[in-house]
Amino acid sequence: MEPGDIIYEGKAKTLYEHPEDENLAVMEFRDDITAYNMQKVDTVEGKGVYNCLISAKLFEVLEEAGLPTHYEELLDERRMIVKRLDMFPLEVIVRNIATGSLVERLPFEEGQELEPPIVEFCYKSDEYGDPLVNRDHIKALGLAEDTEVDVMKELALRVNEILSEFLKDHDIILVDFKLEFGKTKDGEIVIADEISPDTCRFWDAETGQSLDKDIFRKDEGDVLAGYREAAERILRDDEEKAAMLPRE
Ligand code: 5GP
Repeated sequence: MEPGDIIYEGKAKTLYEHPEDENLAVMEFRDDITAYNMQKVDTVEGKGVYNCLISAKLFEVLEEAGLPTHYEELLDERRMIVKRLDMFPLEVIVRNIATGSLVERLPFEEGQELEPPIVEFCYKSDEYGDPLVNRDHIKALGLAEDTEVDVMKELALRVNEILSEFLKDHDIILVDFKLEFGKTKDGEIVIADEISPDTCRFWDAETGQSLDKDIFRKDEGDVLAGYREAAERILRDDEEKAAMLPRE
């Protein structure tokens, strides 16, 4: 399929118009990788394939559990068809273990378990550096209605339950993750963007080793090898997608 014009180009993905259906779009996962609001930028050849296949699988797991996502189908190893949405300029973060920006901001201990999980909302803005926002900020800035915030928080916690269990069965601890949400033309709030090692912290259940973007953020070694390991585990029971993984 030849995609149409570019709708939006992000830091690691490009969204194209669907050639036949205005309610759909084609999302392409590129090999670009960035961190710390573009202070660190690189290309990791093959990364886009791992993120695309992992996202497709995790969206399928969520859909099977009855959660609404923008995912429609995989087009090839780098591209998926998604619903066209009006995006909320928000990042919704769920944390099961304290690490990353949380331990820099507040007196939590690195590795401390968070029960119940902590949910945070950030304003998605490069200009302002994705700052934390509360309900009052969200309302006053017109980013979302109160009821929409409730729906996003409830969905984010359900995603956490479902994916934590799925990943545990695949020897991965879901430490924390970031979700984005959008609204369909019928007004339904659905989980959008991607769910991948770029947007989640995945720790090896046995060793605690990172299998995600922290390898890049902290210069901890072979980024691609970490993503490959995460993909091989997550796609272990999915022959069709596993067959699309790049050969080593
Ligand atoms: P932290 O706030 O600790 O840096 O990130 C918490 C979680 O959300 C991590 O899994 C991280 O990957 C994800 N996350 C937070 N902000 C962003 C962002 O701007 N882009 C991406 N890709 N992930 C983010």
